[in-house]
Amino acid sequence: MERVKTLEEITSIMRSKEPEHISLVQKAYDFAERAHHGQKRYSGDPYFIHVAAVGYTLAEMGMGATTISAGLLHDVVEDANVSAEDIEKEFGEEICILVDGVTKLGKLKYRGVERHVESLRKLFVSTAKDLRVIIIKLADRLHNVSTLKYVPKEKQQRIALETLEIYAPIANRLSIGKIKGKLEDYAFPFAYPEEYEKLQELLKERTRENEKRLEKTYRGIQVELAKNGMINVHGEFRIKRMYSLYKKLLERKMDISKIYDLSAIRVIVPTLSDCYRALGIIHSVWRPLPGRIKDYIAFPKPNGYQSLHTTIFTGDGGIIEVQLRTEEMDRDASLGIAAHFAYKENIPLEGDGKLARKLDWVKQISQLQQSISASGEYLENLKVDFFGDRIFLFTPLGDVVDLPVDSSPIDFAYAIHSDIGDHVSGANINGKFLSLDTKLHNGDIVEIITKKSAHPSNKWLAYTKTTFAKKSVRSFLQKEAESKK
Ligand code: MN
Repeated sequence: MERVKTLEEITSIMRSKEPEHISLVQKAYDFAERAHHGQKRYSGDPYFIHVAAVGYTLAEMGMGATTISAGLLHDVVEDANVSAEDIEKEFGEEICILVDGVTKLGKLKYRGVERHVESLRKLFVSTAKDLRVIIIKLADRLHNVSTLKYVPKEKQQRIALETLEIYAPIANRLSIGKIKGKLEDYAFPFAYPEEYEKLQELLKERTRENEKRLEKTYRGIQVELAKNGMINVHGEFRIKRMYSLYKKLLERKMDISKIYDLSAIRVIVPTLSDCYRALGIIHSVWRPLPGRIKDYIAFPKPNGYQSLHTTIFTGDGGIIEVQLRTEEMDRDASLGIAAHFAYKENIPLEGDGKLARKLDWVKQISQLQQSISASGEYLENLKVDFFGDRIFLFTPLGDVVDLPVDSSPIDFAYAIHSDIGDHVSGANINGKFLSLDTKLHNGDIVEIITKKSAHPSNKWLAYTKTTFAKKSVRSFLQKEAESKK
């Protein structure tokens, strides 16, 4: 049986030790314990275990007392018959808004799939007003999938799939790597039981062999770095997580010999220049695989992830990926956006600061509801436009444009400006003139050539991937048809 997280366990890892913060969390903890008294989880455990776990995860992520308290209270309105007014009276408006943001819509208003989709829409609208809503929701989902084995069979797969298709990608876009990986690990066996079994079988032999090799190489790297005066170094090694391995295998036609990062070593060094120095030291001892050196420090991933990656021959027939980064990069990779809350209670989504621009997609999702009515279409768009795999591309001036995989120059043009999209006549990709149906690849430099006389045609609908580009093309064609009448 799972054990309930005690108040002391939560407060002892809280970032703030201010008495008023501690007492707020204590009040929320006691309130939630009373409100859920007598309620049980599917596991037979007291319901309160769930909300205490959510509060604990939020404290662990370094969130403030307001968010932790809202996490403890997140189910009292939906599941314990406490009114929003009561929360506001007891805990104030801010906590009330956060709790309301994660509360699903009333059971009477909508049913079935529709209720589910409407609740998602509400979640995104609340998130666009206050980013902490989605962070609480992720902590909530994390505990729910960690206890998925107790949930009735007919619900398990739906929850697991939704976790993989919506919540893990959100965690990824917010670059909360720690939560993303855990969500996927818990959900994978329930979402794809057969594939999970097969993969376990495939890994059984390799894992033991790999672990030994990983440990040996990790020690070797530490010794070589120390010889060169780099002693303030730590790190870890791991076998690739199951779900990200599965996704990669699908791309590589299930050929495990094509997976170069099955085993990886992470080395954390004091400064940015130490990353490059350590890379040089490692390459002078272990031969790197050509074409596998990736500089995500100079060119961060779209979600902000930074590291140097290289893959080395271990000398005994194996290959291992080595990731080099600073403490700060490591913290950002595991906590992502949540790391920003360490300095302030909330992050404004308005304004044109760097962070606000990076979070522009949150606002875009919340606006998606105005243009799409059908539930199925809404879900499909969410998956393609926001939570599918993404590539990042550059303008000739070095600005980054972040688009779904398989996007074309037309998508790129519309992402820059709809006026540019409406007049695309050609594309120069990495210095070559290529057709408008070319699929763009990660890191491409794309220059759009426009002409006043160029206009969207019906064909463009087949060349576009994003909803925004398709919508713009359609509305252009419609206007054109009307003007001909
Ligand atoms: Mn919950």
